[in-house]
Amino acid sequence: MSALLRTEDICKAFGGVQALDGCTVEVAEGSITGLIGPNGSGKTTLFNVITGYDRPDAGEVWYSGAKITGSSPQRVFAAGIGRTFQLTRIFPRLTVLENMIVAAQHSGGELRNPFARAGGPADRRRAMELLEFTGIAGHAGKLAGTLSYGQRKLLELSYVLVADPAIVLLDEPAGGVNPSLINQLAQRIKELNADGKTFLIVEHNMEFVMDLCHHIAVLDSGTVVATGPPAAVRNDPRVLDAYLGTAEDDDEQAS
Ligand code: ADP
Ligand code: MG
Repeated sequence: MSALLRTEDICKAFGGVQALDGCTVEVAEGSITGLIGPNGSGKTTLFNVITGYDRPDAGEVWYSGAKITGSSPQRVFAAGIGRTFQLTRIFPRLTVLENMIVAAQHSGGELRNPFARAGGPADRRRAMELLEFTGIAGHAGKLAGTLSYGQRKLLELSYVLVADPAIVLLDEPAGGVNPSLINQLAQRIKELNADGKTFLIVEHNMEFVMDLCHHIAVLDSGTVVATGPPAAVRNDPRVLDAYLGTAEDDDEQAS
């Protein structure tokens, strides 16, 4: 399988902290790829570099055969790379449905007809379809700020799907989410993947990652220390060393 997304030797420092140190990650088209590693290993920074929120000091980002290193978040998004944030970025004082309309306004999707009013019937229909799909349509009229943490994560997923990106980067989608919503989330990701969507997922919940991902890359101190299918990565001594030794601490983080 060819790589839809590839980072090559990415380096990124913040002051004296080398967040990424020659980070090379490949995401095969049509795959669900996991990115795991201890807190502070550079996972979110890699997402930020890929999606144009952080500019790398060195290295390249390739997407669908084109070099997109240093592109703005808007351009990366328009090219088909959607993402969610570790701490959700939905608008708490808008309703769930209004959040989805904002997403439609920001998406360069096919519904963007210059003569159509954003938030018109087509946008609303599509928004409600996606909310049905993620299981939170019953909350469409509620203020997003009143949703449970897990429901907010599902709204974030719905939000990013509005633009129908080819690849979705999820930053800790299951963190702080209750087990029944986690199962629902995993099920939806599998269905979207079966329909052809590619995923790159950062997550500490090992059961979730092992169940969902075809391929896993393990990051430690900004470098990939192991890659492979879940069964192989799970037993890799470097992974046990770098990651699983800290798994108990990670469980306690709020996000
Ligand atoms: P992860 O997502 O794997 O927990 P991050 O990518 O968030 O790790 O962070 C990697 C390292 O870079 C950490 O040491 C973190 O403190 C540092 N870092 C990340 N973003 C910034 C920033 N904007 N300014 C300063 N340091 C940062
Ligand atoms: Mg992070």
